[in-house]
Amino acid sequence: MPNMRMEKAPMPMQEAKERSGNFQEVALGYSVEVARDEAARCLNCKHKPCVSGCPVQIDIPAFLKEVASGNEKGAYAVLSKSSALPAVCGRVCPQENQCEAKCVRGIKGEAVAIGRVERYVADWHMQNGEPLEKPLSNGIKMAVIGAGPSGLTCAGDLARLGYDVTVFEALHIAGGVLVYGIPEFRLPKSIVQKEIDTLKQLGVTINTDMVIGKVLTIDELFEQGFKSIFIGTGAGLPRFMGIPGESLKGVYSANEFLTRVNLMKAYKSNSHTPIKMSKKVAVVGGGNVAMDAARCALRLGAEEVSIIYRRSMAEMPARKEEVEHAEEEGILFRVLTNPTAIFGDEQGNVCGIRCVKMTLGEADASGRRRPLVEEGSDFTVECDCVVMAIGTSPNPLIRQTTAGLDTNRHGCIITKNEAGLTTRNHVYAGGDAVTGAATVILAMGAGKAAAKAMHEEMQA
Ligand SMILES: Cc1cc2nc3c(=O)[nH]c(=O)nc-3n(C[C@H](O)[C@H](O)[C@H](O)COP(=O)(O)OP(=O)(O)OC[C@H]3O[C@@H](n4cnc5c(N)ncnc54)[C@H](O)[C@@H]3O)c2cc1C
Ligand code: SF4
Repeated sequence: MPNMRMEKAPMPMQEAKERSGNFQEVALGYSVEVARDEAARCLNCKHKPCVSGCPVQIDIPAFLKEVASGNEKGAYAVLSKSSALPAVCGRVCPQENQCEAKCVRGIKGEAVAIGRVERYVADWHMQNGEPLEKPLSNGIKMAVIGAGPSGLTCAGDLARLGYDVTVFEALHIAGGVLVYGIPEFRLPKSIVQKEIDTLKQLGVTINTDMVIGKVLTIDELFEQGFKSIFIGTGAGLPRFMGIPGESLKGVYSANEFLTRVNLMKAYKSNSHTPIKMSKKVAVVGGGNVAMDAARCALRLGAEEVSIIYRRSMAEMPARKEEVEHAEEEGILFRVLTNPTAIFGDEQGNVCGIRCVKMTLGEADASGRRRPLVEEGSDFTVECDCVVMAIGTSPNPLIRQTTAGLDTNRHGCIITKNEAGLTTRNHVYAGGDAVTGAATVILAMGAGKAAAKAMHEEMQA
């Protein structure tokens, strides 16, 4: 009989006051008993509505059933058939808009906590699972450019099919945004590393410090014998607002700020690339990136951190859970507010940000109400650091060095079908490089679809 409790089992967490002073993981994970009890809330629905909400089509009722009956090994086997990074997805996927949004238990109560149970199973596997066996090689070379979630998923699926896969990554560490963007307190880097180690067990080679388009081009990869290539280079090029003062000292793009903190460990006292400690930080934007930057600034010791967002709380694109965590930790939310200029002192250091108040008008093309300036509402927020988290675009390097690879006006690679075939033969693309900044699970779904098509092309 299913457990008919109406609410999800709560996630144990570090206290807000304590966690705002450290970089350790905020959410602590379910215990065995809680995970099994929560999994038993699943009704094992015949038509599996939750699966239709999952971009990588995990057989959700099947893995929950295994957990409820105490078979974590079986549950991991179900998960790993569809997802190369379950410990990551269990932590950062917006399940509330995907599988859990479709869960029938959500009609009269709360959805089954699918993501939290997924995390439990993946963590169990990391502690107790056996190393994977390397599949027999078919001798065919495949290249993947970019070691973010899309590239790693594509690489994992191709390796499972027996291909000799090499991933070329520009940075010195694999993981993409999972290592340079999402902070340690939301996604510990040791977890990402373990997921990458699993791919290496499958035989995937990861070549870091390899900027494709500079060190080697796509045409040179074909000359080296790679039969098909997947581009998963993400959208790491930051955008700025184009307002006066953006080149002052103390103004960062969220990308630079988060890379310094997460990848280069600027929060550690012995970091080789430290970051200037700021007292009052203003973060511009309302997405996950803005929440992460604000919460990092707080943990670095800032006395006041505010989010400046031009729409209201209701339109904020960040995950609800992340907004709540940021509020609990004491981040100030200056909503319906838009910056117009940044001021500096005589040494060129930021000392304030000029803003206007906004109201919401009719809905725009995105379906969200358009923010309109309230005339004469200017005011200044004192700050010594500004972080711009207003979006990113794909880096132009690959398109500039690959003849025949078409992109749209936003710089996103154009694909001709759902599998991600580009305008170049045998070249596929997926993830943020195609869609613009999106989510981990959509990037993984794209990597999966491309791997399947690359394999089918080799069979033809
Ligand atoms: C701060 C932050 C927080 C986020 N929070 C969430 C969240 O909570 N939940 C969620 O679902 N999504 C979140 N996202 C979005 C999510 O991380 C991305 O959608 C996802 O990582 C995209 O995956 P990708 O594989 O397309 O690209 P990326 O993760 O960007 O990886 C691309 C990789 O390609 C490499 N590369 C780029 N150019 C080259 C080149 N020329 N040669 C070789 N390598 C190259 C890059 O160095 C990088 O490692 C967040 C993003 C950011 C920035
Ligand atoms: S919709 Fe919810 S209750 Fe039904 S099978 Fe999926 S997880 Fe279980």
